Amino acid sequence: MVTPDQMPEFVAWAKRRGVIWPSSEIYGGLSNSYDYGPVGVEMKNRLKAHWWRTMVHAREDIVGLDSPIILNPQVWEAAGHTENFTDPLVEDLVTHKRYRADHLDDPTVSPDGNPVSEPKNFNLMFKTFIGPVEEEAATAFLRPETCQGIFINFKQVLETSRQKIPFGIAQIGKSFRNEITPGNFTYRTREFEQMEMEFFVREEEANKWFDYWVEARLQWYVDLGVKKENLRLFKHPKADLAHYSKGTTDIEYRYPWGWGELEGIANRGDFDLTQHQKFSGKDMSVFDDETKEKFIPWVIEPAAGLDRALLVLLLDAWQFDEKGRKGEGEAETTLMVNAAVAAYDCAVLPLMKKEPLQKMAHDLVAKLRAEGKSVFYDETGSIGRRYRRNDEIGTPRCYTVDFQSLEDGTVTERDRDSMQQRRVTI
Ligand code: ATP
Repeated sequence: MVTPDQMPEFVAWAKRRGVIWPSSEIYGGLSNSYDYGPVGVEMKNRLKAHWWRTMVHAREDIVGLDSPIILNPQVWEAAGHTENFTDPLVEDLVTHKRYRADHLDDPTVSPDGNPVSEPKNFNLMFKTFIGPVEEEAATAFLRPETCQGIFINFKQVLETSRQKIPFGIAQIGKSFRNEITPGNFTYRTREFEQMEMEFFVREEEANKWFDYWVEARLQWYVDLGVKKENLRLFKHPKADLAHYSKGTTDIEYRYPWGWGELEGIANRGDFDLTQHQKFSGKDMSVFDDETKEKFIPWVIEPAAGLDRALLVLLLDAWQFDEKGRKGEGEAETTLMVNAAVAAYDCAVLPLMKKEPLQKMAHDLVAKLRAEGKSVFYDETGSIGRRYRRNDEIGTPRCYTVDFQSLEDGTVTERDRDSMQQRRVTI
């Protein structure tokens, strides 16, 4: 786990090992914007696939959707976002730095101890223009959340999927927010990916399903290996709820800079479907076979951030040993990450950069790849150094092809966590 004073070392490791680095660097960067390198993108894709597998494929009652980033601007009118998707912005009257009033210990004093201006509502949606003429009629927004694409498609999905209430619609994709104070590495950025699922239920069952999803989502992180003591639930006080919410509980993580949100589970009531029915004039209700009445379902929403979830997995799994893991050598970093989200399933290493060891190692790589495994091949440096290089990016197992392999078809399997080695047949 990364301690507060280890943050610079963690950020340097992420860059050095091809996980995450500042974006647009050759042009001096773009603040709070990051690229995922060859290792980072593998982990991110795996985490995304894991969410999809567990939330959609493993269930009978959830289906997927992929809707555009730019939607008809009326969507945001109906959702209340043109009016309400705001954060309270204050300005330090001396330094003119800007802050979110709700993030200050005292909303009238800046972190530098100066008085601040009266809070103004700052809309977080990015504006853009559709078509060649920058006229008012063609103003559009980049979505600040993926869920509205789900709400406006609710009836289409219901009619084409043969689902019945209760059921859910899941979507993964980019969202954009013109955050006042982005920061803490990838924790808060202006462009990020969300993994959201809207679960449509009867009003009478909303509380039951809300509790179910809070529990299920918390367990999802525990199952991925996040340490229980670094996770907690935070129930939002009624007065602080977002304009659409009847109740929100956040899953929080103990970041090096303190507790903060990882995922939010909200009871959105019938707010969104009712609003879209009102603004579009299209019926959003469903027919109840039992009572023979029409009703607008309520929605329980677990909304996760892909970048933030990956950050949590990295922070939690990152281990730094000043004198090496055996306590008797150079400093070592190990990423003790769950195999489900490791960049590679395994590494294949010929003991020496020599034939026929290389040929045999390449054959093994081909065999593993044909089985759908993601494999890292590495032939340079001492074998110990290559094990450590793989420990640093969290590769769960290494397979070394040596001279005995040529004779009996066995290889050395080396385990990341225990550092134990054993012979296994190919
Ligand atoms: P906050 O109050 O911290 O601004 P929020 O409550 O507005 O966050 P939600 O609207 O609940 O956030 O978004 C759901 C999830 O999307 C968050 O739990 C987080 O994982 C992710 N997320 C939201 N904003 C950002 C951001 N700017 N950068 C990275 N991830 C984000």
